[in-house]
Amino acid sequence: MFLQRTIRQRVSVEGIGLHTGAPACLTFCPAPEGTGIYFVRRDLPGSPAISTQADRVTATTMATTLGGEAFSVSTVEHCLSTLAALRIDNLFIELDGPEIPIGDGSAAPFLEAILKAGLAEQNEPRRYAYITQPIYMGDQDKHAYVNPYNGLRITATIDFAHPKIGHQTFDIDITEPSFAREIARARTFGFLKDVEAMRARGLARGGSLSNAVVLDHSEILNPEGLRWENEFVRHKVLDALGDLVTLGMPLMGHVVLHRAGHDLMNRLVRKILESPDRYRHIELGADLPDSAMQSNSRWMFD
Ligand SMILES: [Zn+2]
Repeated sequence: MFLQRTIRQRVSVEGIGLHTGAPACLTFCPAPEGTGIYFVRRDLPGSPAISTQADRVTATTMATTLGGEAFSVSTVEHCLSTLAALRIDNLFIELDGPEIPIGDGSAAPFLEAILKAGLAEQNEPRRYAYITQPIYMGDQDKHAYVNPYNGLRITATIDFAHPKIGHQTFDIDITEPSFAREIARARTFGFLKDVEAMRARGLARGGSLSNAVVLDHSEILNPEGLRWENEFVRHKVLDALGDLVTLGMPLMGHVVLHRAGHDLMNRLVRKILESPDRYRHIELGADLPDSAMQSNSRWMFD
């Protein structure tokens, strides 16, 4: 039986916020079974909490923002991606401001923190959304869909008219080891002209070459270069996995993305939730023979 998970003990990640450039601190805290994943704004009166469900997504430009009536939490996807990969169901994520520390622009700082805290298996079974019929969103130019699959697989394609990016595809079965090895370290990326435009609007003040891959019209500006030649599309997989957390339950399916961003992911997740005839809830027994499930149950990194 696959049981719900939280973490063993509190653990913090410190850094700066991408937009404000101000110090930002996040603390992962264990939560009881059946809770789900919540952000908690510790800096505000009464420490209000916000769920990570799709209907709380208020903005999808550049990053995914969750909003409440009077407050928001932005750039949640790198943190949530880590939780999806490590199969964490129940967690409070305390913040002392509106932004999550950007770290190096990847999921690596969150992965490292959670591994340090340790995972804790709980008593209730995990309940998956098991896709039984395809669900499609988008058009010819940009689309996202999910097909039935025994596991969680993401295939992403990007197409940028830039000599260092171009056309890239990445296909991966998401497991704890595959995420750690192939996805977690892929950094976010942006174009110098967009960074300059954001700065003019008072945004991206914390953005630098130490937390993003930045490109001008022809070159990569980071002196250290890329972590993989196709780091860009790997990061798209990282983002998509984080956005899938807003489904509110772990997904079993094959997610196929073509030029998809946060907006399309949010629309796909909402469409899944609106299509209860196309998925069913299942709990996974230890007797399931499927190899994808067996690899998902492995914890040791290889
Ligand atoms: Zn990202």
